[in-house]
Amino acid sequence: MNAPNTSGWRPAMGPAGDAEAGLATASGDRGLMVEEPLIFELGAGNGCGVDFDQSGPEPLPLPSLSRFLRKSAPALPGLSEPDAMRHYTRLSRQNYAIDLGPFPLGSCTMKHNPRLNEKTARLPGFADIHPLQPQQTVRGAFEVIHQLAHWLITLTGMEAVAMSPKAGAHGELCGLLCIRAAHDARGSARRVVLVPESAHGTNPATAAFAGYRVESIPGTADGRVDLAALKARLGGGRDSDVAGVMITNPNTCGLFERDMRAISGAVHAAGGYVYCDGANFNAIVGKVRPGDLGIDAMHINLHKTFSTPHGGGGPGSGPVVLSAALAPFAPLPFVTRDTDGTVRLVEEEDAPADGPQTFGRMAAFHGQMGMFTRALTYILSHGADGLRQVAEDAVLNANYVLRSLDGVLDAPFGGSGPCMHEALFSDAGLPEGFSTLDIAKGLIDEGFHPMTIYFPLVVHGAMLVEPTECESRQGLDRLIASLRAVAERALAGDETLKSAPRFAPRRRLDETRAARKPVLTWQGHVQPPAAPSLSETGGG
Ligand SMILES: *Cc1c(COP(=O)(O)O)cnc(C)c1O
Repeated sequence: MNAPNTSGWRPAMGPAGDAEAGLATASGDRGLMVEEPLIFELGAGNGCGVDFDQSGPEPLPLPSLSRFLRKSAPALPGLSEPDAMRHYTRLSRQNYAIDLGPFPLGSCTMKHNPRLNEKTARLPGFADIHPLQPQQTVRGAFEVIHQLAHWLITLTGMEAVAMSPKAGAHGELCGLLCIRAAHDARGSARRVVLVPESAHGTNPATAAFAGYRVESIPGTADGRVDLAALKARLGGGRDSDVAGVMITNPNTCGLFERDMRAISGAVHAAGGYVYCDGANFNAIVGKVRPGDLGIDAMHINLHKTFSTPHGGGGPGSGPVVLSAALAPFAPLPFVTRDTDGTVRLVEEEDAPADGPQTFGRMAAFHGQMGMFTRALTYILSHGADGLRQVAEDAVLNANYVLRSLDGVLDAPFGGSGPCMHEALFSDAGLPEGFSTLDIAKGLIDEGFHPMTIYFPLVVHGAMLVEPTECESRQGLDRLIASLRAVAERALAGDETLKSAPRFAPRRRLDETRAARKPVLTWQGHVQPPAAPSLSETGGG
């Protein structure tokens, strides 16, 4: 890192050789891309954009609090409001977003967030309420939660749904805590959870966090769970030590687990429960009901399948649908509808002593209200036929990508028939010295966010492309043409690909160092600007 250059802009880090090629600019900026220091360096020593109250602290109601009084001025960057505004707007333009183009990040379902969702989520009756308001003042919000719960149960063919988990991984924990409560209730102390090799990292992490020992189930050559190996591990029927399995369907190789009913049957026969990671529900929504496959608990990532913004753009939400066997253990609080039609909240004090054996709470309140409103809007605006078409188009688009790259990128399971909503490629066939990373970085120069790389771990040099149903044929053709061109450069041994990206604001970074030794906070030692007095700033 360069030393802070407090006097102005940091020199541009354009490609070496640009000066000779006549491509350097006087400012160091390039067109609309501005090179600039961090905001603390930028605003150092330039006064202050805020008027501070100079009258001194009010007498404190509790004198013991006086030790918390600030003794020096806050270390704010000394920028005016327009300068601070422009700094962040300029930074945002160096970013990539789903509103700029395809975001083919496999396993993440980065799809368009319809603006209708935003309109409903911003209605003051939903946006401006507080979780501690009296229940009778938020009946409409309860109605939204209850209706969304109804449609999640209907779409999955399950018995109940826990709405409070705040993301997929939080939903996994909720599901496993239900499974543990169910085993506890019948006095069985099973300590093992089986997870396929191809699982998302959150699955084994969740099982371990819930107190289980994680054991891996091998996959078959065609990318699915090895049923025979699973049955062998389940072993002695009701004496098994296996509390449950966590299976992703469609799985992280982009394939449907065709043996799902046989898997569920075997696990149930051994006295265990089936957790399904439902993050890939986008591929089967409206087509398959997980309840019909024998699943006991499954989280639904509202922020993936039902289009609520995620990643840098918003919080997640991970409701968990539950089978009749696990429903009694669902967490509190939940919304229920009384016979007279009113919806109300069931809390600890409402639970009858002989009633549901809830395992407790997942969150302080009811979940992510903004995401509920968006997801319900998405479901109702699509309707049954529209949701089915979501799954069909997502799968069609992924297969179009898969087959369009035949001959340039290796598809490890491409020979075993169509994929679901994501197309999986590997680095097999790339020449010596070229890697998956080169393909991903080359795609940045082409103007696209890269696909997911090196996941799932079961495929060497994996590239997982999830186009989603939102991309048009023309959009897909542009993505495919770029991917093809980059892959062809690798196949032709084009060494310049190894230094991609060449046109991004930053060149190839030392990602290992960035991951192992991240510098996440401002570490400079610039003196904070002195707070100006009221008379100097004209009283503002
Ligand atoms: C996204 C994802 C998760 C985790 O969901 P979060 O909402 O990010 O916690 C789990 N499993 C799979 C397969 C996923 O794609």
